[in-house]
Amino acid sequence: MSKVDTHRSSPGQARGMDRLFTPRSVAVVGASSNPAAIGGQPIKHLRDRNFAGALYPINPKYEEIAGLKCYPDLQALPEAPDLIVVAVAAHMVIDVIRQAGARGVPFAIVFSSGFAETGADGEQAQVALREAAAAAGVTVIGPNCQGLMNVADSIPVGFGEPYGLEYRRGAVSLSSQSGAFGNSLVMGLDDEGVGMRHYVSTGNEAMTTSLDCIEHFLCDPENHVVAGYVEGFRDAHRLRALGDLALKNETPLVFWKVGNTDAGAKAASSHTANLAGAFTYYEAAFRQYGIVGVNDVGDMADCVRALLTRRWPTGSGIAVVSVSGGAGIAMADRCSEMGIEIVQLQPATIEQLRPLLPSFASLSNPVDVTAGALADPESFANALRVVVKDPGVDMLGLCLAALAGKVAMTIATVIAEVSRETDVPIMVAWNPAKGRAVDAERTLEEAGIPRYSSPVRCARGFGALKHFGAARQRRLGRVGTGDWVAPVTMPDDAAAQALNEFDSKAFLARHGLPVTLESVVNSADEAVAAAGEIGYPVVMKILSSDIPHKSDAGGVRVGVATADAVRDTYEELAELPARIGGNVRFDGVLVQEMVHGGTEVILGAVNDPSFGPVVMFGAGGVYAEVFEDVAFRLAPLSREDAEEMVAETRISRILAGARGRPKGDVAALVDAIVQLSELAVAESGSFTEIDINPLLVLPEGHGARVVDAYVKRVRIPR
Ligand code: ADP
Ligand code: MG
Repeated sequence: MSKVDTHRSSPGQARGMDRLFTPRSVAVVGASSNPAAIGGQPIKHLRDRNFAGALYPINPKYEEIAGLKCYPDLQALPEAPDLIVVAVAAHMVIDVIRQAGARGVPFAIVFSSGFAETGADGEQAQVALREAAAAAGVTVIGPNCQGLMNVADSIPVGFGEPYGLEYRRGAVSLSSQSGAFGNSLVMGLDDEGVGMRHYVSTGNEAMTTSLDCIEHFLCDPENHVVAGYVEGFRDAHRLRALGDLALKNETPLVFWKVGNTDAGAKAASSHTANLAGAFTYYEAAFRQYGIVGVNDVGDMADCVRALLTRRWPTGSGIAVVSVSGGAGIAMADRCSEMGIEIVQLQPATIEQLRPLLPSFASLSNPVDVTAGALADPESFANALRVVVKDPGVDMLGLCLAALAGKVAMTIATVIAEVSRETDVPIMVAWNPAKGRAVDAERTLEEAGIPRYSSPVRCARGFGALKHFGAARQRRLGRVGTGDWVAPVTMPDDAAAQALNEFDSKAFLARHGLPVTLESVVNSADEAVAAAGEIGYPVVMKILSSDIPHKSDAGGVRVGVATADAVRDTYEELAELPARIGGNVRFDGVLVQEMVHGGTEVILGAVNDPSFGPVVMFGAGGVYAEVFEDVAFRLAPLSREDAEEMVAETRISRILAGARGRPKGDVAALVDAIVQLSELAVAESGSFTEIDINPLLVLPEGHGARVVDAYVKRVRIPR
């Protein structure tokens, strides 16, 4: 495993994108004298913003554009520009990139469309572009993208109306896989009061991916939140390293992932592969690494504003204090739905609150101080101080309803004061009439306290804090923090073959998983001998890599209790392949220890081409797909992750001993999940699917047993 060094640094390939976002000189290849044309707009936008660097229009047809000297080609420039913008027809792009390489240009933004978005020919052109760029040593953004904005330094390099606008500056950078929609996100965030630092639209990502840009953003200490509009990452396996980096640098990732329909149906042969789908993996990564998933611009703004406070709750308890009961309940409801605990205040806290608040205030959480409390701001402040000191309170939500006028300023000042005295994140839901509390709003803003127009939106912000905070706590709690970023390799899917149950289990056993005692036999006599050694009753199964679901084919017999029965069963099973027909492989008959009792669960791993190894746990048996009671994590996962996976499913309640059942050996189950995760990473270059169905979880103290397994892997000679 590779170690991520401390400090704002990263192991990846995104080093040195500074010049891309802050170019000292820009050339526009395919420059147009028409300021409305794609090749004219970047020049106009940069000039309108008084771009301080050199600006070079390039077009052999002109001597001059917009008062600037126009050059025939890159070769003719007096210097190698930091960045070129390419706005020529698709078929000319590769030539421009080659020239850029020869001229020593490090970065090119390719606006031109006519690549992978147009079909097979375009796809080929895009591959050729990537190869040419790599050979030329030019880092290409796009093609088919709209450009980038360095909002912080007022450097817009793009086309489209939004590139001509000014935006609020801030500590958020955004990468978008959609150009036009990305622009509208920048505008939407601005409307919501969120300031931007850098924005890039990545287009077809022939070479530079969103995650390259996101990695760069995470390494820039001026960024406090990094956002993404995501249709799909081809290099999603990097979410491990980048998610970890985000946690380490305390720079949360906020992603709006679209297109979440199940793309995992494929030609999956195992239960695990059937239960998986691309979005499941995104969700797993989001959960594991504290990446905040959002579904709308407003949602993104709500989460980003909370995360910009950089106050990470160490637990998931909130106190809600309202001047209006209704608002408090609304906030509490929404918080609960997101797994935030409306903590019960300590009796001592309540006793301290009593003298500070009106007699008719409701002192249990959500606390309703009533509007009466506002008459005595000093006591109100002290009440807040008491609440944030309660040991169960990790976050404080204030609902001020429509409070306005003179008292608004007093209360805002008091809140700002209390916030300065504590590390507990404090956020406010408050919608005063427009213009009736301007000073108060500014006071909160200056104190870095987010204000939301509704308690529900404020609760969303708390949800983001809790989500990132929890992942951060998990990371801090890990032994050997920083050793977790495993490089994963993807196997050649086409070369993968199914192993039969015996070989599958042998593979798992080599990695420490507890499998049943069993032997492969090729005659009735051998079967009887094996059964004698294993002990009656035994289980007998057809052994064939061509039959992934043996019981469906009549190939499983449990409770075979006598030597005669073993003999008969052997004969029946041996005839099965012939009865099924179609050249089904016969690898013998499996005689196996019969495991008594226990709960059937499913454990699996899929080696996804973009995500790498992903581990699954859930309710097992033949109805696994029907119940869909499953949890996923990217491998490698920690013991704590494994425990959480179990807790996430409903089957965990059965394992905990529902309705008088004996408690299951959850510790052994967690061991098995961790072993499978380690195997999945160690063998990431060689397997595509692993399906353990069932793993029998025996009563506490008796362990767990792999009863059936199906592995698809690239056969490596033993
Ligand atoms: P399939 O290929 O149909 O999934 P399995 O090997 O999983 O075949 O067997 C089907 C069912 O038989 C299991 O889900 C389990 O309930 C039971 N079974 C199989 N092997 C054993 C065993 N060794 N001990 C106890 N029960 C078993
Ligand atoms: Mg099975």
